[in-house]
Amino acid sequence: MRSNADVVNAKVFNIPVIRCRCGAEILLIPDTRATGKAIEQHIQNCRLVKQSTYRSNSADDLSDYLIKQVFDRALEAKQEEDRITEKQQ
Ligand SMILES: [Zn+2]
Repeated sequence: MRSNADVVNAKVFNIPVIRCRCGAEILLIPDTRATGKAIEQHIQNCRLVKQSTYRSNSADDLSDYLIKQVFDRALEAKQEEDRITEKQQ
């Protein structure tokens, strides 16, 4: 399991994190392959999937839920970048 120190560092340096329904946080590092792997690994270990009695907590659904957040964060980062670029003009 990932140590909490990583998540604390991420917050200090403003690295975006996504949050699983179980409360676990996954760091979004600028390496999509590594991020995909981290998501995959979490889903394999996620207690909600292991205890899954609800369809909404199936591995597939959680994967969609987490990947959607990755896109949301990417969009937010892009909007923030656009905002900063606009100001400088
Ligand atoms: Zn989880």
